[in-house]
Amino acid sequence: IVDPGGHPADEDRRFEAALRPRRLADFPGQPRVRDQLGLLLEAARRRGAPPDHVLLSGPPGLGKTSLAMIIAAELEQPIRITSGPAIQHAGDLAAVLSSLAEGEVLFLDEIHRMARPAEEMLYLAMEDFRVDIIVGKGPGATAIPLELPAFTVVGATTRAGLLPAPLRDRFGFTGHLDFYATADLAQILTRNATLLGVESTPQGIDEMAGRSRGTPRIANRLLRRVRDYAQVQGNGIVDLSAARAALRLFDVDDRGLDRLDRAVLDALCRRFGGGPVGLSTLAVAVGEEADTVETVAEPYLVREGYLVRTPRGRAASPMAWAHLGLTPPTPSAA
Ligand code: ADP
Repeated sequence: IVDPGGHPADEDRRFEAALRPRRLADFPGQPRVRDQLGLLLEAARRRGAPPDHVLLSGPPGLGKTSLAMIIAAELEQPIRITSGPAIQHAGDLAAVLSSLAEGEVLFLDEIHRMARPAEEMLYLAMEDFRVDIIVGKGPGATAIPLELPAFTVVGATTRAGLLPAPLRDRFGFTGHLDFYATADLAQILTRNATLLGVESTPQGIDEMAGRSRGTPRIANRLLRRVRDYAQVQGNGIVDLSAARAALRLFDVDDRGLDRLDRAVLDALCRRFGGGPVGLSTLAVAVGEEADTVETVAEPYLVREGYLVRTPRGRAASPMAWAHLGLTPPTPSAA
């Protein structure tokens, strides 16, 4: 709630390490991706060979990292974790690749942010389990091929559309993660409340689940804030009144929209007459990076029908106007 960027804060990280589901069977929600992955992993197990490379795409906080860890656990293989922004040179990637063990899972988070030369090295490594190490510079440079043991890349991206086609094609399977149903979030929250040793009521759980933007990471954050509230101001029980009061305090509205969501809708309606307006103009108006608006706020606003993407830019739907308590301009006036 505090960080509208959707990136895990330190508190998230500590908490997430403790609460991450470890097995596919313990992973609620995403039934399609779970079934698809289950099949892929079982087939690999029976063949006794590493599965195809896996690409997971979807908004932040939906479980891409968790699924990567589950894949490694199900395969009973170690996992190496790195991310696109950490790989700025082909040499960074060569160092990682050349130290992988047979069957190991390599998790590449934010894979769309990897530097281009590293990307090219990755294609070859994924396809042929080989890298060419360039020795020397200029006309005298030579490529020394290095054989790699078979491994599995699990790539995660919030922007599958940004991956160059040759890289996308190297993944035998792509799982698209979608926002979670409220019932799945309620299941996750109930389990996590128990793990945290906090007493909760079904009404309190449902209130948080319905206001978590379909996102487990946000659900977990709300749970911690409601727990704080219950322990400091209430009777220690995560119930409906604690949930309502804490969510009001932390600026989560009754539809689960947070400060950034509302700032986007507010700018769209009040400053740009409902749009359409270009993404970068909209981002400047709310004081955020265009990428944050596009990957963090927008997917949920679009999915819930508040915001519409048009060829000429972003536009507010009648629901957005209604949510802000504003009257849209009449079409005849335009
Ligand atoms: P991403 O990599 O997509 O940003 P993570 O895998 O880091 O998301 O998940 C964020 C948090 O949400 C973690 O605490 C994780 O335990 C929790 N989480 C995500 N998906 C689930 C799920 N299906 N069930 C339980 N917890 C989940």
